[in-house]
Amino acid sequence: MTLDRLLAQAAARLSAAGSPSARLDAEVLLCHVLGVDRTWLYTWGDREAPVFEWARFEALVAARAQGQPIAYLTGEREFWGLRLATSPHTLIPRPDTERLVEAALERAASPRGRLLDLGTGTGAIALAFASERPDWSVVGIDLRPEAVVLARQNAERLAIANIAFRESDWFAALEGERFHLVVSNPPYIAEDDPHLRRGDVRFEPQSALVAAEGGLAGLRHLVGEARVHLVSGGWLLLEHGHGQGKAVRDALAAAGYAEIATLRDLGGHDRVSLGRHVEGGTGGGQS
Ligand code: GLN
Repeated sequence: MTLDRLLAQAAARLSAAGSPSARLDAEVLLCHVLGVDRTWLYTWGDREAPVFEWARFEALVAARAQGQPIAYLTGEREFWGLRLATSPHTLIPRPDTERLVEAALERAASPRGRLLDLGTGTGAIALAFASERPDWSVVGIDLRPEAVVLARQNAERLAIANIAFRESDWFAALEGERFHLVVSNPPYIAEDDPHLRRGDVRFEPQSALVAAEGGLAGLRHLVGEARVHLVSGGWLLLEHGHGQGKAVRDALAAAGYAEIATLRDLGGHDRVSLGRHVEGGTGGGQS
C-alpha cells in the first residue's frame, strides 16, 4: 500500500462520513503520524506505508470519521503563526479570533503596558499579543486548572516570557489590578443554538462555548466588571457571535464606555466590539 493510495482511501472514507475537508483532513493526519509536512507527502507519495504508522493512521481516520476535531487528534493548532498545543479541556483556537488580536495590537500604542485575557484557554490570544509586544506584560486567566497548565506549556514551548497565566473566575483573583487592554473570547453561543450539534463544537467544552441569556451572559458580565480593571483611556475588546454586535454595543453604552464600535472578521461578520474607559467620562457616541 503506497502513501498515495492510503490517503485516497482515507479521504474517501472521511468524505462518506460527511467531512467537508476530507482530503485535507487525511493529509494532515498522515503528516502528523509520519512527522512530515505536506510537501514531503506530495514528493514521496509513491512510497510504501510503514505498517506501524499505517495502523496509527487508520485509528485517527476512524476517530475523525466519528467527528473528532483534527486539532484534538493531532494535539495542536496554528494560531497567529504560533503552534499551540490543544486539548479537549479548551476551545480550539479559530482564525476569526485573530481579528481580536489585531484590534488589541492596534490599540497598544504605548511601548509598554499590561494586557489581560479572560478565559484564555490554550492561551492563544494572550500568546499572540505577547509575541508581538515583548515589552508589554500579559496576564491570561482561566477558570479551569487544565487550561492554565496547557497555556503555561504553550508559553514555555514558544519561549514567550512576558506572560503569566493564573486560575481565576473572571476577575475574582485580580482585585485591585488595572490593565491598558482587557480582551476576551468568552462563551457566547445560546444553549439552543443548532450550531452546537455540528462539527468540532460537539467535542469542545460546553463551558467555553455556551452562555445564558441567549449567549450574552458572559459578555454582559465582562462589560459590567471590566471598568474597575482598566486604566483611564484603556480599552475593553470582546469577541462575540455575528448577531450580537448591537447587544454588546448597547451593554457597553449602558456601562458608560466611550468610542464604542464593532469590527468585522474576514468573512464580513460582526465579530469584535470594543469600548474605551475614560475616567470621569460618562461615555457616549456609538460609531
Ligand atoms: N466562534 C466559535 C464558534 O462559533 C465559538 C466561540 C465562543 O463561543 N467563544 O464555533
